[in-house]
Amino acid sequence: IFDKILLSRCFLGDNVRYNSEILALRSPLLKIWQQENRIIPICPEVAGGLSVPREPAEQQPNSGQIITISGSNVSKAFNEGANKALLLCQQHSIRFAVLKESSPSCGSTLIYDGSFSNTKIPGQGVTSVLLTQAGIRVFSENNLDELAKLLDKN
Ligand code: SF4
Repeated sequence: IFDKILLSRCFLGDNVRYNSEILALRSPLLKIWQQENRIIPICPEVAGGLSVPREPAEQQPNSGQIITISGSNVSKAFNEGANKALLLCQQHSIRFAVLKESSPSCGSTLIYDGSFSNTKIPGQGVTSVLLTQAGIRVFSENNLDELAKLLDKN
């Protein structure tokens, strides 16, 4: 097996984040994986049709809907982006993803609590949930070493 890795596009320094802030992940492992041609990037929110910059959005704990700070429901765009990410995984037989922690799309162990008060709670973003349900293992910038041990193994 030669594993490709689905990657949050913002880790490549692309201007896709909600606040237009550039956030490149500087990791020797990522460099190696790029050189090995493993990386398949996607920003689920941009792929789902949202713009850069865009309003911050958080998942509401009761409804599970993704609502922006001014009250717009952007769940549809988030779901569309998640579906596109899953499709990419299927096209490339991807078993592993590295997604940005705490994002309402990409978070794998933490998300914001829906109150826009900068409070994180345990949870998964919309794309992470869909990929996990499909059997894809989702990692974040915090556990790249763990993924490195699993690559190309049965
Ligand atoms: Fe990065 Fe994911 Fe947010 Fe896009 S949706 S900017 S890939 S964390």
